[in-house]
Amino acid sequence: MASTDMASKVVVVGGGYGGIVVSRTLDDIADVTLVEPRETFVHQVAQLRAAADPAWRERIFIPYDGLLSRGRLVRDTAAEVRPGSVRLASGQRLDADYVVLATGSAAAFPAGVEGTGRDEALRRLSEKHAALDRASAVLLLGAGPTGLEFAAEIAAAWPGRPVTVVDPAPELLSGRFTGQLRAEVARQLGDLGVRVLLGAGLDTPPDTPAGTVGAFTVVTADGEKVDADLWFACYGATVPGAHLGPELAAARTPAGRLPVDEHLRVLGHERVFAVGDVNDSPELKTGRAAGRQGEVAAANIRALIEGGPLTAYEPFPDAVILSLGPDGGAGWAPEFGFLDAAASVQFKGTFRLGDYRGLLGAA
Ligand SMILES: Cc1cc2nc3c(=O)[nH]c(=O)nc-3n(C[C@H](O)[C@H](O)[C@H](O)COP(=O)(O)OP(=O)(O)OC[C@H]3O[C@@H](n4cnc5c(N)ncnc54)[C@H](O)[C@@H]3O)c2cc1C
Repeated sequence: MASTDMASKVVVVGGGYGGIVVSRTLDDIADVTLVEPRETFVHQVAQLRAAADPAWRERIFIPYDGLLSRGRLVRDTAAEVRPGSVRLASGQRLDADYVVLATGSAAAFPAGVEGTGRDEALRRLSEKHAALDRASAVLLLGAGPTGLEFAAEIAAAWPGRPVTVVDPAPELLSGRFTGQLRAEVARQLGDLGVRVLLGAGLDTPPDTPAGTVGAFTVVTADGEKVDADLWFACYGATVPGAHLGPELAAARTPAGRLPVDEHLRVLGHERVFAVGDVNDSPELKTGRAAGRQGEVAAANIRALIEGGPLTAYEPFPDAVILSLGPDGGAGWAPEFGFLDAAASVQFKGTFRLGDYRGLLGAA
């Protein structure tokens, strides 16, 4: 183990699925500082269940306390990330031999997490649950994984409550997976009473604010009428970049992502890595990919510190396991093929909560 005063300084910006893996993996060899504004890790993969089922609400907040034994967590926001340094919103400046950007993507609930303090985030989740409880009919815009999983959670938690999903795309999941998977997802949603309207979006959004109970009627572009009193947009994540200094901002792709080489270094910057949703790795943006990228970036920083060959990152082929309420689900992955409800519940029923608690060193 390198002594602390001699250790290379690694600043990891963002403590989500990618950042926690990089930080933990390098804690024994480097002087790691993790910068993260949230009070706890938020297991956002389980947040739709947490909105529907109060028993899950507190579980998705996992303390960072056990993550690092030598390094430190700084609860702050990076205001300007440059090669070699990170300036925080508080004004503090952190010098870095290596910077890892793991700042993810951002969206309003349900496509993203709201609130940085645990109490505030819990309050916001409770408000969503209360609104769902009061609503008499729910409209979800977007038939991607978030919209479909949320529809199933609502329909399972409030049986008989009309739930409608609308998407201008002609097929579920943008047609990205097999017909067998889409047919099974459609079947299970049908069994739960979810109405799915594809191939025509809304010309005008509902006239009540998203997430707030208030009756409205909307009509899809092909004339289907939907009466509801609560709606959510289940799409629209963006990649924040206001914290990128001039060198890194200049490297962004038109979609706002950071282009990386096979070793996950930002193009043109030998000592700046980017992992997870923030980079342009050609694959579905998932927590699983962010975690694997965190492992590879950490292995490469270790190799640069200790000497040794660099590891190339292999993007994952398309795969998905949808959780469709506590008792449902469907998936497809190249290594398994099609996954039915029982197999999906077996894989995803607990949202791998124990694994993430273990990674974070939570008791
Ligand atoms: C509802 C939902 C369900 C999902 N289900 C799955 C699933 O089943 N399986 C799966 O693999 N993926 C799933 N995903 C996708 C997965 O959550 C993301 O791909 C994953 O979170 C990306 O990880 P990340 O580390 O890149 O970013 P994140 O996990 O989003 O972490 C980014 C972190 O950076 C912090 N941050 C942002 N800006 C700054 C700044 N300026 N300074 C410091 N810190 C900052 C944020 O607070 C955050 O903690 C789901 C996503 C959603 C929304």
